[in-house]
Amino acid sequence: MRSVRRSSCGWCEWRGATDMAAEPDFDRLRQLVTDLMLIPGLSGYEGRVRRRIASELDALGIASRTDRLGNLIATLAGNHASPSVMLFAHMDQLGFIVRKIEASGLIRVERLGGVPERALPSQGVLLCIGEGKDVPGIIANKSHHATAPEEKYRVLPYPELYIDAGFRSAEEVVSGGIDIGTPVVYAPKTIAMAAKRIAGTSLDDRAGCAVMIEAARRLKTSSQRPNVHLVFSVQEEFNLRGAVTAAQALKPDIAIQLDIILATDTPDMTARGDVRLGGGPAMSLYSFHGRGTLNGTIPHPALVQLMTATAREENLTLQRSAHVGALTDSSYVQLVGEGVAAIDLGFPTRYTHSSLEVCDLGDLEELAQLTVASIAGINEEFSLDRDDFSQ
Ligand SMILES: [Zn+2]
Repeated sequence: MRSVRRSSCGWCEWRGATDMAAEPDFDRLRQLVTDLMLIPGLSGYEGRVRRRIASELDALGIASRTDRLGNLIATLAGNHASPSVMLFAHMDQLGFIVRKIEASGLIRVERLGGVPERALPSQGVLLCIGEGKDVPGIIANKSHHATAPEEKYRVLPYPELYIDAGFRSAEEVVSGGIDIGTPVVYAPKTIAMAAKRIAGTSLDDRAGCAVMIEAARRLKTSSQRPNVHLVFSVQEEFNLRGAVTAAQALKPDIAIQLDIILATDTPDMTARGDVRLGGGPAMSLYSFHGRGTLNGTIPHPALVQLMTATAREENLTLQRSAHVGALTDSSYVQLVGEGVAAIDLGFPTRYTHSSLEVCDLGDLEELAQLTVASIAGINEEFSLDRDDFSQ
């Protein structure tokens, strides 16, 4: 399966685009990100992603376990006297669930997660019924020649859209293994771009998962570090709940999430901030959703200080982000027990939640470096006492 996926995503073109032999660590990360992006894993259906990540950890000699919700958890034992760390990224991706099968064989779906409706028509999708058996289809776009002028600039709400997978009747759909409740994702793909950039499906947050695996490789051999729990979480795009159960079980003192950070260096985003693609990893100083989900994260000052100092020592540029409109699992993880000191670190990402998100692989590599170095800086003296901070 892996070789099939790789050859279908332009891997060979990529080999030609850059010098693979020059940077073995970088190439390993690039391949891992690509492989993970091509595995379908709708919220609640993360099994294939989890198995792949578990096998990556296994190859590093790191044992992992799966909790009842499906979170994959591994613990790297360290200094028990230091504050413990939960490092986490989510395995799931947004998408759809089959809602109704029309007599004609066309398929209607319910959305799952923050699906951008204006970017849906004419997308390829994958109806996920089992590894090696998935059914490709397309989200239909009304024939242009029959589109009235007033229709041309209207965004169709998802209930008006339908999936055409080639079936000619409802009976054919059902005998093809598809039923109400079948998960649907964007057709997995990656596109190698110039300047170490990559476009594709579910960069959010498979790129974060890949960075975590890379960080685990380096943390495993480090002797000076606290206990680190690695959590590859589920159902983040659904309702930000998977990581909460993991935090309840692990009771960490510190929570560090690795996820996308909105890049603001395109013409449509410039007023929103100063986060550049390829400008280095970023930390969020403020997030708030504000559209139904009244939650967000204001990071613990000790972690802001730690990340800032570590980036300086490591000679990395650490970009700063503050915005309303998005949030991550850390919003809920911080509320567990007596409170968990939390921060969101991430990699600048363009065109979020569309089928072709874009990031820069150099930012991922530097994020791994920052993550490892900052965790190494958490020792017995590391204080989370609010009274040690002036604000
Ligand atoms: Zn995410």
